[in-house]
Amino acid sequence: MRITLALQFFACSLFLAVTAGAQKREEPILPYSPSLNINSIDKSIDPCENFYKYACGRWQKDNPIPPDQTSWSVYAKLYQDNLNFLRGILEQASVNEKGRDAVTQKIGDFYTACIDEAAVELRGADALKPQLEAIASLKTIRELAPLVARLQLYTGGYRSILFQSGSVQDPDNSEQQIAALDQGGLGLPDRDYYTKDDAKSKETRERYLRHVQKIFELLGDAPETAKKNADTVMRVETALAKASMTRVERRDPYKLKNKIGMPALEKLVPNFDWRAYYGELQFPKFQILNATAPAFFQELNALLSSEPLENWKAYLRFHLADSLSPYLSAKFVDENFEFYRKYLRGAKEQQPRWKRCVQYTDHNLGEALGQVYVRKVFSPELKQSTLEMVQRIEAAMEQRIRQLDWMSPETKQQALTKLHGIRNKIGYPDKWRDYSSVNIARGDFLGNIQRSAESERRRDIAKVGKPVDRGEWEISPVTVDAYYNPQMNDINFPAGVLQPPLYDAKLDDAPNYGNTGGTIGHELTHGFDDEGSQFDATGNLRNWWTKEDREKFDARTKCVSDQYSNYIVVDDVHINGLLTMGEDVADLGGEILAYIAWKDATKDKNLQPIDGFTPEQRFFIGFAQWACANERPEDLRLRAQTDPHSPAEFRINGVVLNLPEFAKAFSCKPGQPMTKPPETVCRVW
Ligand SMILES: [Zn+2]
Repeated sequence: MRITLALQFFACSLFLAVTAGAQKREEPILPYSPSLNINSIDKSIDPCENFYKYACGRWQKDNPIPPDQTSWSVYAKLYQDNLNFLRGILEQASVNEKGRDAVTQKIGDFYTACIDEAAVELRGADALKPQLEAIASLKTIRELAPLVARLQLYTGGYRSILFQSGSVQDPDNSEQQIAALDQGGLGLPDRDYYTKDDAKSKETRERYLRHVQKIFELLGDAPETAKKNADTVMRVETALAKASMTRVERRDPYKLKNKIGMPALEKLVPNFDWRAYYGELQFPKFQILNATAPAFFQELNALLSSEPLENWKAYLRFHLADSLSPYLSAKFVDENFEFYRKYLRGAKEQQPRWKRCVQYTDHNLGEALGQVYVRKVFSPELKQSTLEMVQRIEAAMEQRIRQLDWMSPETKQQALTKLHGIRNKIGYPDKWRDYSSVNIARGDFLGNIQRSAESERRRDIAKVGKPVDRGEWEISPVTVDAYYNPQMNDINFPAGVLQPPLYDAKLDDAPNYGNTGGTIGHELTHGFDDEGSQFDATGNLRNWWTKEDREKFDARTKCVSDQYSNYIVVDDVHINGLLTMGEDVADLGGEILAYIAWKDATKDKNLQPIDGFTPEQRFFIGFAQWACANERPEDLRLRAQTDPHSPAEFRINGVVLNLPEFAKAFSCKPGQPMTKPPETVCRVW
């Protein structure tokens, strides 16, 4: 991914009175800002000293982080503009009049129920009553399985209760969907939060314990009981965390593969009634499943016998309420904000309710909202021009592969086959997801959330045993991000990321290639980073490298990770170069490809300086300005542990350092910070 929208399930809370605005508003429009903005440049800084600060310095001064945000960036700002725009669409769709089409009615009623804070407040925690009663009436550990299955349905993708399950592409046969199990069950953002011994990690665990206690109190427990229950949750989660794989381990696709049959699963976790679990979820019959992280499931099995039933009831009550807190009454919403968004990520204020409601509509009915969005902002001409850019970047990749001096002809042939197998997905899916079976009620916000989650989960489960649908998208059309999926071998660019100030149809090629061309190259390079390069053209996990070529490749990616590991994120926290390796390789490769493609696209044009900048300088400024950002220390710290992307400054400076074309464009002298001696330059693709 170019950026990350991960951790959005932590987004939430603080009671802000916003009146339900269901009046018809004017036709919304997206504001325009250019993809190269000379007013964002800080000319007091030498581009050869710190290029990011040079290209983004004024932007940083002019764009302080809004109090309701955990960081602020060109991407985040565009997403906020999208939210504002979508608010207009949703307020229009909310008007309950005859003649609304089915899609408009779904998104309009969902938004209406969300914005009706008084109704949400009135229900309080009662909304959880049926599920809390089901937990209370558990009689044996054996009965846990079907209940966990049901709770996982309602909490959907927001949080995995105990573990994750669903369907995945078979790593050995990318045409086939199989059942999958994976580690999960934690309330903190990563397993390392439970295992690290530094002072800050200890403080965070103390703070989390208080948060868990507070949730129990909100559910009606006396403070002493709540404290005891919080200790239980912490003990169970810590044991699960210790048995969980690290994020760096999870970058090795072979470590994620563990295909077993039902008898082996029952042997691995005999204390859990898997047949009841899968029966409850109506899983299609299957012979094989991918059970990632067997050590985690072994630990789960041990815990199922060492922890008494009462403790499991506490664990389930907490995770049910905590994962659904954003959709409950104000005291839950506030507590969720206080811990997850304020303490962990540094936000000062809750986002206004309308903003949260637009995001929830996007998360739950993304391809319904997306249909209306693309009709307004994504013309066939825009689709065509961005597709042409994608094709030029792919042609640049082909040229690069053919010219590589370190790779053998055999491996080159395989790399080209993989490149030619990549599917380009631009703007939005060819076939929209069908939400007709999801019942959306105008007066039942939590119910809408749970029914959408259930529908999404059932859709995922129903895929088990079926052929893969290669037309599917993982993110909605309004999302300001892009991704590569190694098993699909496809690159995906939603309409939301192909708007100014990223892709700017009003501007010339230089900043567009520097910016969006680089994003396209970034996603394409993911197919050939340390992780993606282990999958072949059809998306199977299969080694297509000669041993010698792979060793040379590993030495080249190590050059990148060594460089980034030296950068300091915040205080004494360094970038974990092994975690960010794939993204850093993609950032570097992407910009090289964009540069080649841009030169090719403009070879017959007589390019002239504009605003005093040469075409090459404008290419690089356009590149840097996609990443202009202000970041809070809390958020930087959290992301250093969880986010495979490096902080914004290093995503620019770390790249230009390896591009002699940059030093030439800005006449940087050897020895200046944005240059490297030629023999130490990192280059993978
Ligand atoms: Zn990426």
